[in-house]
Amino acid sequence: MSEKEKFIEMVEKKNSDQPEFIQCVREIVESVWDVYTGSEKLKKARILERIVEPERIIIFRVSWQDDAGDVHVNRGYRVQFNNAIGPYKGGLRFHPSVNLGLLKFLAFEQIFKNSLTTLPMGGAKGGSDFDPKGKSDNEVMRFCHAFMSELYRHIGPNTDVPAGDIGVGAREIGYMFGKYKKIKNDFTGVLTGKGATWGGSLIRPEAIGYGLVYFLQDMLELAGKDLKDKIVAISGAGNVAQYAAEKVIQLGGKVIMLCDSDSTVIDESGLDSEKLEHVMHIKNVKRGRIKEYADKYPAVCVTGKNVWEVISEKNIKVDIALPCATQNELNGENAKALIKNGCFCVAAGANMPLTPDAVALLRENKILYGPGKAANAGGVATSGLEMTQNSMRFNWTREEVDAKLKEIMKSIHAQCVKYGSGGGYVDYVKGANIAGFMKVANAMLEQGVC
Ligand code: NDP
Repeated sequence: MSEKEKFIEMVEKKNSDQPEFIQCVREIVESVWDVYTGSEKLKKARILERIVEPERIIIFRVSWQDDAGDVHVNRGYRVQFNNAIGPYKGGLRFHPSVNLGLLKFLAFEQIFKNSLTTLPMGGAKGGSDFDPKGKSDNEVMRFCHAFMSELYRHIGPNTDVPAGDIGVGAREIGYMFGKYKKIKNDFTGVLTGKGATWGGSLIRPEAIGYGLVYFLQDMLELAGKDLKDKIVAISGAGNVAQYAAEKVIQLGGKVIMLCDSDSTVIDESGLDSEKLEHVMHIKNVKRGRIKEYADKYPAVCVTGKNVWEVISEKNIKVDIALPCATQNELNGENAKALIKNGCFCVAAGANMPLTPDAVALLRENKILYGPGKAANAGGVATSGLEMTQNSMRFNWTREEVDAKLKEIMKSIHAQCVKYGSGGGYVDYVKGANIAGFMKVANAMLEQGVC
């Protein structure tokens, strides 16, 4: 067994009940092994062994009461994985599937994503197995307050700055910020994704989706292509998917598919801004299901299948695929179907949305593939810009934030190209992993054994 395989086996043994974390570690190790073992200094300091071990994990009970007065108990987490280059930073996810392994994968991924943004942010993630679906606003508020009544002692503007993720949007950030401020008597930038009138950054809600499409544009430009009239399939119908769709439409692409955890809708004529506004109304205001889209506009609706399964089943032609729902949503079979149906570019809005065999197939077939840690980094980058504005007690305009976001996405793209080019193909996975890793590894080296 090679030294690399021995290393991965050691991580597997220690974390045997955490498949997503192991998957994510394997990908990083595969990419960085040669540069790591090529450096005596990094090896001697055992940087790789240290980097796969979280610096701190906090697990806590969250008790709250529903509207009927019944008491519920959920589990809260914060994984503070690495703060070598800045305060811990990463979102909070509220979803019944949340467990420690899932959050360790997301926090580990976040270390390298944050490093790529060029901003000083460490990696973290947190959340709870609480399900906001079907809960009243008051129930969500009581849960968020209960969650923050423990989390507040572990975070701070120079320590750890959480943000949103699946199930945590502007409403939840508002409730958590309110509780933090009350307990600490301190109005400070402890969370990002805040409302625009109380410390939030303009463009923050749009940033992941917009940043994804800016990154996509950079990939296409380098390959001598553009977005105009390209057929685009997007999975998810949440924050990332909505704003990715908005930017694709603005730039002349044709978005024909969206999905949620219940069903997929196909609108062959393509979404326009009015149709997208309706999607936002269904998902953000009514908190309903995407299939309601077909009540108003001509569309085919497939229940129980995501976008990639529907493409595989119906052989739908798409040029570009933007997975923006959740981890491991697109498998090898789906990747084969995408390639067969003419897809030449996949860019990840979600974190690790492709299974390893799907990624391998895209790379073998020289399909452009932008992994999440590079392509969706616009969200955390704009969170970083929100932190800067909070420190300065000053707000940049929409245009200023958008210009900075574009610049950051360009810089991430350039780092991927620098470390991932070879044989006429840019391996964005390798490029992103090496660039993200080296900065953190060198910072750890310079800070000594701690
Ligand atoms: P949201 O909760 O706003 O939206 C998620 C969407 O994906 C929902 O429409 C949801 O459906 C759908 N979905 C979830 N699971 C499945 C599934 N198994 N099959 C089909 N659809 C599914 O989350 P975000 O848009 O914020 O996050 C989406 C992805 O982007 C996640 O991987 C997240 O980690 C990543 N991300 C988020 C960032 C952020 O700051 N928000 C930053 C960077 C990445 P339903 O409506 O039915 O629940």
